[in-house]
Amino acid sequence: MYLVFRCNCGRANYAREGTKQKKCVCGKILKIKDRKILKKAPDADTAAELIRELQEEKYGGAVFTTADKIR
Ligand SMILES: [Zn+2]
Repeated sequence: MYLVFRCNCGRANYAREGTKQKKCVCGKILKIKDRKILKKAPDADTAAELIRELQEEKYGGAVFTTADKIR
């Protein structure tokens, strides 16, 4: 199971259940157990899709950029 949560910077992230921490693209290290879990997904592909939806919800589809476009 994968957990979907949001960083303080507003960016949605996911991590495999049981993972202790995850580094956001903003550079902040997130402790998974301290985060509010927004959604759960059965696999990484579903988690990535949920994150895409969360990002669009917050920023709007037009300005969404995928991780590989962030420098
Ligand atoms: Zn962040």
